[in-house]
Amino acid sequence: MLKLKNVSKIYNNQKVLDNISLDLREKELVIILGESGSGKSTLLNIISAIEKPDSGDIIFGTENLIKINNKKLDYYRNNYIDYIFQSYNLINYLNILDNIILSSKIKKNKIKDNDIKEVLNKLRIDKVAKNDILTLSGGETQRGAIARTLLNNSKILLCDEPTGAVDSKNSLNIMNILKEISKEKLVIVVTHNESLAKKFAKRIIKIKDGKIIKDTDPYISNSKLKVNLKRNKLSYISTLNMSMKNMKFKKMRTFLTMLAFSIGLISLSLVLSISSGFNKEIEKFEKETLFNYPLIISKENISIDNIFNIDNNNYKENYINITDNAYTVTNNIDEALIKKIDNLDKNNIEGISYIKNIDQSINEYLIDNPGKNFFNLLKGSYPINKTEVMLMISDKNSINQTLANYLDIESIKFDEIINKKVKINNKTFIITGLVKSNNEFYKESYGIIYNKEAFNEEITDVLIFPNSYESKLIIKEKLNDYNIIDESSSVINVVQNFVKGVSYILMAFSIISLIVSIIMIAVISYISVIERTREIGILKSIGANSKDIKRLFLSENIIIGLLSSLLTIKIVTELQNVINNFVYKKIAINNIVDFNFSIITFIILVSISLSYLSGLIPARIASRKKVIDILNSSR
Ligand code: ADP
Ligand code: MG
Repeated sequence: MLKLKNVSKIYNNQKVLDNISLDLREKELVIILGESGSGKSTLLNIISAIEKPDSGDIIFGTENLIKINNKKLDYYRNNYIDYIFQSYNLINYLNILDNIILSSKIKKNKIKDNDIKEVLNKLRIDKVAKNDILTLSGGETQRGAIARTLLNNSKILLCDEPTGAVDSKNSLNIMNILKEISKEKLVIVVTHNESLAKKFAKRIIKIKDGKIIKDTDPYISNSKLKVNLKRNKLSYISTLNMSMKNMKFKKMRTFLTMLAFSIGLISLSLVLSISSGFNKEIEKFEKETLFNYPLIISKENISIDNIFNIDNNNYKENYINITDNAYTVTNNIDEALIKKIDNLDKNNIEGISYIKNIDQSINEYLIDNPGKNFFNLLKGSYPINKTEVMLMISDKNSINQTLANYLDIESIKFDEIINKKVKINNKTFIITGLVKSNNEFYKESYGIIYNKEAFNEEITDVLIFPNSYESKLIIKEKLNDYNIIDESSSVINVVQNFVKGVSYILMAFSIISLIVSIIMIAVISYISVIERTREIGILKSIGANSKDIKRLFLSENIIIGLLSSLLTIKIVTELQNVINNFVYKKIAINNIVDFNFSIITFIILVSISLSYLSGLIPARIASRKKVIDILNSSR
């Protein structure tokens, strides 16, 4: 069934295997005898295809193993080979039972609980099958490895000094078992115990300096065994299960990796939450307080919004720089606009102010149709016809000297101002009322308020005061043909630009800490590749393919990513409470840290994808490792 033709292997210019030709039956026990260093292990490695010969052919049934690729060789091992190494055999974070189950899963080989029990009994390890591997003796571990292979139904069983670490009584037991199995498959046993060999095997092959010097039962085959190199995929559940067990086995390392990653995630979460909290707070402020700032439609005006966007690219030192008019806002204030404004739903409006620059020396306001709450009437009554006006004073009961001169008054009592005459632009008016504005925008203003029809001059500005945030949106929508300056958004923009600036800086910091933690995970998982080479070797030798191994490492990293994001969510939620309470006590702002659902989702996604990425390279390295290099590096 298995035929080696002129196989040679050279290490360091020395022929370790020298032109070996060998033909093996489908069912027999072959014992390979030879001194230490004679090439016995190398021969088994070549048969199991974890090592490639430098020349020669290995014919297995209808396939030549020399001619097939590494991926297929993984499948060959998975489907046809069981291998018991000289020393390292079991994965040490799984107990004997779990090792057996894992191997059967890798080989997609269903085994019955009863069969496992029987084999464990036979090998006398039933009592330790669930113990921690590290507490077992060398002999028990070796018997565990034997138990694992006995339960598989591979066609070839390779045993490299299976009785090496075992006492003589157990040695006989193991040899008896191997002899028994050889009735059903090809069993190749390496030993240097000549008496043991003679006692059990009909076929003994002696090798010396890489050459066969004796074969007690040679054979020439013409096997036409149909070889099927199919992939047996390790299921996701088994992969996940293994990752969990390894992480549990290395609790401290897992915890530290999580912590490192979480630190980056926490700072990112905080920055995102704080800027979200700030923006929400500003939005709330706008909705609750700033909505009654006016919407201004001007013939010509400057918008702060636009000023922020002026580009300074063409700035020249020692020159008078001329910018374009980008920040001036113009409108055509005509009958059509006035009509549109007249047609607005008055229920949405607190008041409308039409400004006609009549006299530059005083503040004059026209307030048409002021709502009940717009002014606080202190004395007298609202003007009715166009020869009547009222005086507005500031919330501190003041006007300035210019206006006082104009009115020809000094400090006088509220009562005395009523019915006083005032001349504006050669027209005489009578003051019928004294008011203060309730409006935030006019709070500190003072001036003369007159009827829209009092003068015929053109209107230069219209100020519309909405009575709620929703009203504001409606009015804006109705007048969307015009260039409206929203006074409140100008105020907000200033704050928002500041917040943006601050959060960019914070963002930069948190991205740095995130990068640091990614590097840390990458380093830690790379270290774990090195640390786990032995395990990778064992997995490969029992037939796990590169994809399985890659998946194992990746799933571990993804679990770490997921756990880190959970840890992050827990910590940030706690921090959120502490910070918010503190800030509320200090400056009465309620939810400055807003760790909301979308940020949480984002953090989970970031964390999983980054941990996946940082696992990718180590996983790749892990899966590409050649078994032989691993075994060499750990001996
Ligand atoms: P045995 O199992 O019979 O004791 P081995 O097959 O392990 O012998 O090794 C045979 C010889 O090849 C030894 O001299 C050993 O040092 C050498 N050798 C084995 N593997 C390697 C390797 N990967 N690189 C270099 N030398 C090796
Ligand atoms: Mg050896």
